[in-house]
Amino acid sequence: MMNTNTYHRFTVGHFDCIIVADGENTYRDASLFFVDAPENDVQDALNRHNLPAKDLDFPYTCIAVETAQGWLLVDTGFGPDRTPSAGKLVQNLRNAGIEPTDIQVIVLSHGHSDHIGGLTDVEGRLIFPNARYVMGKAEWDFWTNEDNLITIGWEDTIPFMKSKLLPIEGRLILVEQAEQDVLPGIRVVQTPGHTPGHLMVVISSAGEELWCTGDALIHPIHLEHPDWYTAYDIEPDLALATKREILKQASEENAHIFAFHFPFPGLGKIVQKGSNWHWQPV
Ligand SMILES: [Zn+2]
Repeated sequence: MMNTNTYHRFTVGHFDCIIVADGENTYRDASLFFVDAPENDVQDALNRHNLPAKDLDFPYTCIAVETAQGWLLVDTGFGPDRTPSAGKLVQNLRNAGIEPTDIQVIVLSHGHSDHIGGLTDVEGRLIFPNARYVMGKAEWDFWTNEDNLITIGWEDTIPFMKSKLLPIEGRLILVEQAEQDVLPGIRVVQTPGHTPGHLMVVISSAGEELWCTGDALIHPIHLEHPDWYTAYDIEPDLALATKREILKQASEENAHIFAFHFPFPGLGKIVQKGSNWHWQPV
């Protein structure tokens, strides 16, 4: 079922923030998200969450933050003309009062198509022409090297990757350090595993913090089953270790979380429950 909410305003300290929906897709086979899990356990977990085993909805959700240097956007969604149920970021930004030309900085959590697809339009022009772009150096190096895409069996995506990533090359800041400030109060943290140079974005102001975890956390069920990984995790062992570290730290620090693929608006907290965790939407 399509979610009708398109944006959600809130604050982190002095920052005005808007969660903006890009849309969602329905995945026929839920097991893609839990590839190493026994089928019966997946069924039980889905049942507990009142979720179907087939046709699992999977949202795509970006966040815009108003800074003294203009609007910052984390990720760009699926992009135009790829699927009717997603690629609505620009339309929904406009609903929230933000024009594409207002965006000054875009942080790309990683190079998967649902995060970079909205970089360019169908003619290959930059959708956010005034933005500077921030991406992990390991991430950029991975997706712009055709050999890597062939190795993971994604050679079909080579033209797509080139069409999305090469236009931003001259406006790009590549992150090599474990943590790096992007703007005052906004920093990125290397969180590899889902992809080699995945970044989490931390927004801090006036004693409040929001961790935008990108695809380091993909589904709320993974909090209860932190050993389950998805078909989309490129380095599963590292993805699991990174996820555990985020879950442990976030629950200890009572951090606010924004998770790109969690049910809209994807805001909540991580609560420890025995040796695992669970998602508490806010
Ligand atoms: Zn994703």
